[in-house]
Amino acid sequence: MIIGILAIQGDVEEHEEAIKKAGYTAKKVKRVEDLEGIDALIIPGGESTAIGKLMKKYGLLEKIKNSDLPILGTCAGMVLLSKGTGLNQILLELMDITVKRNAYGRQVDSFEKEIEFKDLGKVYGVFIRAPVVDKILSDDVEVIAKDGDKIVGVKQGKYMALSFHPELSEDGYKVYKYFVENCVKK
Ligand code: GLN
Repeated sequence: MIIGILAIQGDVEEHEEAIKKAGYTAKKVKRVEDLEGIDALIIPGGESTAIGKLMKKYGLLEKIKNSDLPILGTCAGMVLLSKGTGLNQILLELMDITVKRNAYGRQVDSFEKEIEFKDLGKVYGVFIRAPVVDKILSDDVEVIAKDGDKIVGVKQGKYMALSFHPELSEDGYKVYKYFVENCVKK
């Protein structure tokens, strides 16, 4: 199982480590040709506006959008998978959700807490200027993680989006296993 990590901006090395810990092989994806041979793709946290622009510049936006790849988006990756943020920015628009960026407010830049994750129970969530799901636009979207009444994890077919950073917590590798078992068919 080879999992690609979009490596044009954001936290890439941490995802590589977590993928290895979960028992899979990681591959950095910087250009279109790097998509060859991967079974799934991770879009990491970072700055969604910058990642969107760079994806477009390198031709990755259309290629990824039109591929069959299962995708896990974390934080900025969740933003990029969504259909809208209320702001003018480049998105993949692959999931039937809208998100609110920096939803926890500016004064709460980052925090860590346990959240409820479907089938996994409590999972440690690291939130950094995190988005949350604002609206769910179709019945195909399943809520898989919540922080109180905030939706911080969703799944739609082969796509999964998380507000937090599983690559930054000890038990986060479980979330990659969940992604592979539930979104990646092999
Ligand atoms: N707030 C950032 C964005 O919307 C996401 C932050 C992150 O990925 N840690 O792009």
